[in-house]
Amino acid sequence: MSVCPGCGLTLPAGDTTYDRKFNASAECWATFETVIAAEFQNPALFGQVHQLTVDAYAVQHAGGGHPDKSVCIHLAGLQLTMERGLRPVDVPPRLQRLARRTSWPHLESPATRAGLTIGDVAGAESAGAHAERVRAWAQAVWSAWAPHHATARELAAG
Ligand SMILES: [Zn+2]
Repeated sequence: MSVCPGCGLTLPAGDTTYDRKFNASAECWATFETVIAAEFQNPALFGQVHQLTVDAYAVQHAGGGHPDKSVCIHLAGLQLTMERGLRPVDVPPRLQRLARRTSWPHLESPATRAGLTIGDVAGAESAGAHAERVRAWAQAVWSAWAPHHATARELAAG
């Protein structure tokens, strides 16, 4: 079995490796790719949750070689949707402005992991269920990152 170093998702081990920036197992990353493929195929679903999926996945896979800038930007994205109620489609322009910052705090992953992962979104039986699961998962990740909420608010406001 393979256990994802970021989110803890346990899946049968495959024969691929993952060496990009996120702190993820190859199997977890493949699950993420399946989920975002479903979002790319459904414009309504894409608009409702895609940004949230990307932000929640990135934040839940902090650590390892994942750059501070990426963790900070996606955590700010979660703050904007989860706490300030922005629609996910309105988040990217704000994150693009935020990305001009030149220094980024290092945020350690909280000791307690969120109870939901990308594995809970994969295989949703309908677009509605997919969107609902993404929201529940993103909420769980945002809540788990409570130790960094103040930093997220500062980043998102800047
Ligand atoms: Zn993972």
